[in-house]
Amino acid sequence: MKIYIDGRFVSRKEAKVSVFDHGFLYGDGVFEGIRAYGGRIFKLKEHIDRLYQSAKAILLTIPLSPKEMEGVTIETVRRNKLRDAYIRLIVSRGEGDLGLDPRKCPKPSIICIAGKIELHPEEVYKKGLSLVTLATIRNIPQALNPQIKSLNYLNNILAKIEATTAGVNDGVMLNEKGYVAECTGENIFIIEGKELSTPPCYVGTLKGITRDLVLELGENLGLKVKEKVFTRYDLYNASECFLTGTAAQIAPVVKIDGRKIGKGVPGPITKELMKGFRDLTHREGVEVY
Ligand code: PMP
Repeated sequence: MKIYIDGRFVSRKEAKVSVFDHGFLYGDGVFEGIRAYGGRIFKLKEHIDRLYQSAKAILLTIPLSPKEMEGVTIETVRRNKLRDAYIRLIVSRGEGDLGLDPRKCPKPSIICIAGKIELHPEEVYKKGLSLVTLATIRNIPQALNPQIKSLNYLNNILAKIEATTAGVNDGVMLNEKGYVAECTGENIFIIEGKELSTPPCYVGTLKGITRDLVLELGENLGLKVKEKVFTRYDLYNASECFLTGTAAQIAPVVKIDGRKIGKGVPGPITKELMKGFRDLTHREGVEVY
């Protein structure tokens, strides 16, 4: 495995960062999770754009241009001879002292790791996921905006721990007002008749790249597509429900808090969207080779 760190490709063993890196000390940094399918990197530009937006929001100047960062990502996949890959791009604040002040960190660190994808077992997609609502609410945007894909993912980790402790696949995170925000690392959608909806970002939801694509796919299928604020009641009474994310793709949900969603099996519209998504991942993307 060849890992990119600050202009060099090194082995997994050599791929080390300083204990004084503020990414390690404070979670001060940003990241992206990207996928490649069949030798093409899917939605690369969108991910790079979001990385720079996250960096801008935390006043972090990335010492490479977005085009150069695309080049680093492509080269990392190429050097690892991967066709299907999960890629992690990280920009940390870099080495500083033990204080918080980022002005003491002169050189941000750029890391790119490309590895094999670890998928949920196929059976999970066939059967559908079971969720519970979590007591851990999503970060309040006025305190730490969920749009920032920062290295500090404790909010999501606490939520994930709650979901796994409850013995289910994932959990629903509400915002401080009790409206549905998203899952621990995926966006959430409901289908009610011919209407497809997902919470708007101001609720405290990451503007997922898969989410935006699914909104487009829904339009193309002739669905009424909406961003809307909704509650657990709407989840329970939806005809279908699914999650979206770069790693998870589109994952059907069949149970929430013990309530069966729709018929309790992956719904027909969800399946159509899954097919549309799969077709696109086989057609689109930036060529690596
Ligand atoms: N929400 C959160 C909190 C996430 O970390 C992710 C994964 N990046 C998503 C949603 C899904 O976003 P995307 O489709 O861009 O991967």
